[in-house]
Amino acid sequence: MIIIDGSEGEGGGQVLRTALSLALLTGRAFRMENIRANRSRTGVMRQHVTAVEAACAIGGAECEELKVGASELVFTPGKVKSGEHRFAVGTAGSTSLVLQTLLPPLMLADSPSRLVLEGGTHNIHAPPFDFIDRVFLPLINLMGPRVSARLVRPGFYPAGGGRIEVDIGPVARLGRLDLLDRGDRRRVEARALITGIPGEIAVREIATVRKVLGWGEESCRIVQLPQEVGPGNILLLEAEFEGLTEIVSGFGKLGVPAETVAQKAAKRMAGYLASDAVAGPYLADQLLLPMALAGGGSFTTVKPSLHSRTAAEVIARFLDVAIRFEPLDNGVHKVIVES
Ligand code: ATP
Repeated sequence: MIIIDGSEGEGGGQVLRTALSLALLTGRAFRMENIRANRSRTGVMRQHVTAVEAACAIGGAECEELKVGASELVFTPGKVKSGEHRFAVGTAGSTSLVLQTLLPPLMLADSPSRLVLEGGTHNIHAPPFDFIDRVFLPLINLMGPRVSARLVRPGFYPAGGGRIEVDIGPVARLGRLDLLDRGDRRRVEARALITGIPGEIAVREIATVRKVLGWGEESCRIVQLPQEVGPGNILLLEAEFEGLTEIVSGFGKLGVPAETVAQKAAKRMAGYLASDAVAGPYLADQLLLPMALAGGGSFTTVKPSLHSRTAAEVIARFLDVAIRFEPLDNGVHKVIVES
């Protein structure tokens, strides 16, 4: 059994999700101790419990000691069951993070699957649905699988009630991906999604984006969502290149001025556009597992986050791969995954 200290490195929920995916893929059991020890409320939260329960359901797995607040658990995988699965993440927990856990084993399963996930679709500290759909999945599809996602209904914290559906056409083996050049820029777009709060918040966000990034009016939109899915607000800044799309998001929060939310997101997008890096910091940590499963791959990114370095360490506990982070010029790093 693999023993993992959940407090190492980034010490958050991603350590657990990465280990769950890898256990299902390799058939190797693990015991995790000190789960989320680096968070103010330690142990597994409701959304992590759902991820573990979902991993048990698709993987014929068993999990001992699973309950909200648990700081240790033992996960013993069985055989991955493709097909249709539905999971509801309580308390508006992120559907994307449950997908992050289940997709790797299902995209390498022996037959297609459909996932229906209910909960939050635009949660802070998680990939918004749009990031999954337009940034992450197109790259996964370049590696061979056919994965498509639909946003049936958006869900924001705290109300939740969102729903996504994901169809997964698996492959026997993932193809190698090398993302060293993002190519020419094709399009930029800013979208302020808003529901159940004053519309002027979205107007102020877009005005701030235009000021910081100099994007024209034709590239900016306010999307008023139906009242019943709110309240909620997210700002999505998208830059489409020949080789990939990047989305930077800003999450509206009670008590934080719209200008502050938008300025932070716009400055991050400006930093990405000014650099030569292909992957932004979030995409970087999410690409490591698929590339490791493919047996190799590479990409350039900005300074590797602690999330990325921690994911690399967890992956190395299950798979015989080496992941190197090599500094290049101008703060850009090359990430090389080799078996
Ligand atoms: P914890 O509460 O312990 O921090 P968590 O389970 O909520 O844990 P993390 O361990 O922080 O989550 O992992 C969050 C994941 O979501 C990472 O893979 C990260 O790349 C991704 N992520 C976070 N914010 C964004 C964003 N704005 N855009 C895209 N991806 C994001």
